[in-house]
Amino acid sequence: MQVSGSVVLVTGSSRGIGRAIALEAARRGAAGVVVNYLRSREAAEKVAEEIRRLGGDALVVGADVSRWEEARRLVEAAIGRWGRVDVVVNNAGILEPKPFHEMEPRDWQRMMEVHFYGALNVARAALPHMMERKRGVIVNISSVLGLRPEPLASHYSAAKAALIAWSIAAAKELAEYGIRVFAVAPGGVDTDMARVWGDMDWVEEEIPLARLARPEEVAKLVLDAVENPYVTGDVLTVTGGLL
Ligand code: NAP
Repeated sequence: MQVSGSVVLVTGSSRGIGRAIALEAARRGAAGVVVNYLRSREAAEKVAEEIRRLGGDALVVGADVSRWEEARRLVEAAIGRWGRVDVVVNNAGILEPKPFHEMEPRDWQRMMEVHFYGALNVARAALPHMMERKRGVIVNISSVLGLRPEPLASHYSAAKAALIAWSIAAAKELAEYGIRVFAVAPGGVDTDMARVWGDMDWVEEEIPLARLARPEEVAKLVLDAVENPYVTGDVLTVTGGLL
């Protein structure tokens, strides 16, 4: 599917990787881009302004994707504005490193709610519209930690692995409806999230390329894959050798 002329909804696009995907979609001529945020309304408005400066059309929607009603409202906002949603990028995420033995149930519940249920909520809300038109791409931003789980992120790694499993199964179910689903698993990316680890020595010690990815490098991979009709049920990594 060409991004040009498509309506693209990117969850968690006020900052970081989501922002880069939203801007890259506008650069490629998307007909409309939904910029979603949880708390950073001003940052999301700025992303929308940048999209308009690039000649695109943007809609800013605050919604907590982990809540079904809010996810539904997010998708309906796109349908209300443009009559369709062609591409959903489930990107919203959080990372709170902690040893498992210090976690409370709320810690792992929230991780699953945002990464896993959040993606399913938005996908499920968009699917009837996509199925009716026999056209749609769902991208799930997972993580290298979904493939190579790490300490202090056991809940995050598990949520990202669940997202990969769901992407593969959903791709098999939805192929006959003309809908593709795939996961993207970045390594370390230069965003606020990468800095929650505090000490950044791991970047040079563990990543063969000895640097974080730029969000734009992930965004290009995501949208190149959206435009590649043979990518479905796949897990695309972009890790600088970290995997
Ligand atoms: P980030 O800079 O921390 O941005 C996170 C985004 O998600 C923000 O826009 C935030 O909104 C939004 N968000 C958080 N919870 C949400 C919710 N419940 N509903 C709606 N939006 C919500 O993170 P990032 O590094 O760009 O990460 C983006 C995705 O890539 C995440 O899924 C992350 O797990 C994944 N990833 C990141 C890395 C990395 O090294 N950075 C590596 C692999 C995978 P507000 O601004 O309003 O808070």
